[in-house]
Amino acid sequence: MVSQTSGGSAQSPRVRAVPNLPKATLVERRDITDDLFVIKLEPEQGPLNFKPGQYCTLGLEGIERAYSIVSSPHETLLEIFVELVLEGELTPRMHRMNIGDQMTIRPRAKGLFVLNQKVHHHFMVSTVTGVAPSVSMIRKYINDGLGDHKFYVLMGASYHDEFVYDKELAEYAAKYPEHIHFIPTVSRPNEDKNANWEGAKGRANAIAEEYMEKYNLP
Ligand SMILES: Cc1cc2nc3c(=O)[nH]c(=O)nc-3n(C[C@H](O)[C@H](O)[C@H](O)COP(=O)(O)OP(=O)(O)OC[C@H]3O[C@@H](n4cnc5c(N)ncnc54)[C@H](O)[C@@H]3O)c2cc1C
Repeated sequence: MVSQTSGGSAQSPRVRAVPNLPKATLVERRDITDDLFVIKLEPEQGPLNFKPGQYCTLGLEGIERAYSIVSSPHETLLEIFVELVLEGELTPRMHRMNIGDQMTIRPRAKGLFVLNQKVHHHFMVSTVTGVAPSVSMIRKYINDGLGDHKFYVLMGASYHDEFVYDKELAEYAAKYPEHIHFIPTVSRPNEDKNANWEGAKGRANAIAEEYMEKYNLP
């Protein structure tokens, strides 16, 4: 069969034969906003082997893209946080998926953006779906029984309803204040949608230095 797929590069689709890839079944789905949704997949071949921070390659109809993994390796289901790109090839198809539908999944997770264990202070800056690696790393750190690392998660979005993992990260920060600091920030504080926002304001990259100084990072 010939179809469109991204092959080695998740960002540059090209026509090539689609190999017989393993499948993963959609078992949970949570719609956050019109264009943000979280899915949980169950790979047919058993849990995917990966390190927090890595990405998997998912596909439909031969169109494949890379997705950072939100879940931690100890979880059975593969959790992915997706932004719908209306003019995109794959995400509109993913957005139309129902529980029980299947996607292809490349058998190996990839990516070098994994936790450097030699460093003990981890200042993590992300926006919207970019928080996935941080959540995966922190879930594993907690599941492993904590250690001598400190995580500072600075998470930005235009609007507060795009954070998605804010409640979870705020709970970790409250429960493990010696290990986890969490700063959600909205970049459009003056818009009506953010009227009741009382947290940090400004783009994550613009306020990063301020928080690095505040926490007196080495
Ligand atoms: C390592 C890695 C990890 C990734 N992790 C995630 C993730 O966790 N969640 C996630 O949603 N995406 C993630 N992506 C992006 C993902 O691979 C796709 O590029 C994205 O979902 C769009 O796919 P598409 O087929 O719908 O759009 P495409 O057909 O690939 O793109 C259509 C057009 O939209 C542009 N575009 C692509 N993404 C966006 C965007 N977010 N906003 C605006 N325009 C865009 C493209 O440049 C292109 O011009 C990751 C990419 C990489 C390389």
